Amino acid sequence: MDNFAQAGTVESVACPFCGLLCDDLTVQRDSAGNLKVMENGCARAVTFFERPVAAPSPRIQGKPVALQEALAKAAEILGKARQPLLAGLGTEVFGMRAVMNLAESSRATLDHMNSNGFMRNIHVLQNSGWFTTTLSEVRNRVDLLVVVGTDISSVNPRFFEREIWNTETMFDQNTSQREIVYLGGRDLDTSAGVSPDGRQPDVFACDLDRIPEVVAALRALIIGKKLHASEIAGIATADLERLAQRLLAAKYAVVAWAAGPLAFPHAELTVQNITELVIAINKTTRAAGLPLGGSDGDTSANQVSAWISGYPMRNSYQRNYPDFDPYIYAADRQLQSGEADALFWVSTFNPERTPPAADVPTVVFGDAHMEFEKEPDVYIPVGTPGIDHKGIMFRSDNVVALPLQQLRSSSLPTLGEVLRAIEQALQPAVQ
Ligand code: SF4
Repeated sequence: MDNFAQAGTVESVACPFCGLLCDDLTVQRDSAGNLKVMENGCARAVTFFERPVAAPSPRIQGKPVALQEALAKAAEILGKARQPLLAGLGTEVFGMRAVMNLAESSRATLDHMNSNGFMRNIHVLQNSGWFTTTLSEVRNRVDLLVVVGTDISSVNPRFFEREIWNTETMFDQNTSQREIVYLGGRDLDTSAGVSPDGRQPDVFACDLDRIPEVVAALRALIIGKKLHASEIAGIATADLERLAQRLLAAKYAVVAWAAGPLAFPHAELTVQNITELVIAINKTTRAAGLPLGGSDGDTSANQVSAWISGYPMRNSYQRNYPDFDPYIYAADRQLQSGEADALFWVSTFNPERTPPAADVPTVVFGDAHMEFEKEPDVYIPVGTPGIDHKGIMFRSDNVVALPLQQLRSSSLPTLGEVLRAIEQALQPAVQ
C-alpha cells in the first residue's frame, strides 16, 4: 500500500500531458505532496507535475461553498436544461465513462475541446479509411520520416528522443541513419530532427495554407503523374520529385502530421491526400501514416465515446439514443446558435483550458489552478489523473492504453465521483 504522506521517489511514471504518454519518468514527492520531475520529463511535464499542491473550495458565483452545495447547484442547472452541452472533456477513460453516463441520463450533447482538429482525422477515417502505424512500429522500423505541417516537438515534445533517435531497436537498425524531411509550414523548430551525429534534416517550407497544393503534388508524383509547374508553393518541383523517389525507395517510410496545426479550410482533404499517398507507396514497398497530437485526453474521449455509443465526439443523446453530427453538435455552434442552454465544462489536466464565453449557465469541473476571466456559475475543482488519482489513458496512436498512477494523497474528488453524484441527484427529476 502506498504511503502518500511520506516523501518518496516514484519510477516508471506515465505522463498524461500529451499523446506520447511517456512512461519512463521518475518523480520525487515531498511530504506535503509537491512533486519534482527527476528524470525524463520535458519542459511541459515539469510545468504540469511541479505545480504546487492546491485544493481550493468549490464555488457558486465565486463564493466558496461546500462540495455538496456545489453538486446540488450543478444538478439543479442540469435538471432545468433542455439541451445541455458537456464539453471540454479533458479527462481520461474513467472520467470519460462517467461523462457518457451523465450524458445519457441528461440527454446531453458531447464535444471535446480539441475536436476542431481531431475531426479532420475522423472525417478521413469515416470516409475512406487509412493505413496508419503505431509509435512502437516507428521506433523499431522507420527509415524515412516525412513530417507535414508541424515540427512535432511543439505537439509531442519527446517524439524524436523516444521514437526516432532511440538507440535500441528490435531489428538492430542504426537509428542515427534515419532520414528526416519537414514539409510545409514556416518557422518550424526543426532542431529535434538533427541526427545524433549532426546530420541536418531536409526542410521544404511553404505557407501553411499552401500545404494542400504541396501534398497533392507529392501524391501525384508518387502515382507517376508528370507536373509541368516548376515550383509548388515556392518548393521546387524537382525537390518534390526527389522526395517522391525517396518515399518509393524507403523500406519503411512514415508520413506524420498533427491535425491541430493544419488549421486551414478543408484540411481534412489534405489529411486524406496524405493517407492516400501512403496507400499508393504500399503498392511497391512499405509505408504508413502517423497522426500525432492527443493532448487533454482527446484520444481517450473519442475511444470511450466510440465503444459506448458507436460514435466519436460530437454526438448527442438529445433524442434519447446516440446521434452523431460533426456540424450540428460542434460545441462552438451549439453555444453560438443558442441551442445549448447549459454548459458543463471539463478540463482536468490543463488549467488554461477554460470554458468559452457563453451566455448560458456554466458549470466547470476543472483543475485546481484554474483562473477565470468570467467566474462560472459553479466551479468544482477536481483531481488531475496521473497525479491526484489513478486513471487509464490512450496514447495518440490509439492502440495502447496505459495506467496512470496516483502520486500523492489529495483531498480533491475525481471527476467520476462528482459526475456520479450529480447523476444520482438528477435521477428523481428524470424518472
Ligand atoms: S513528451 Fe508528452 S508525455 Fe512525454 S514527458 Fe513530455 S508532455 Fe509528457
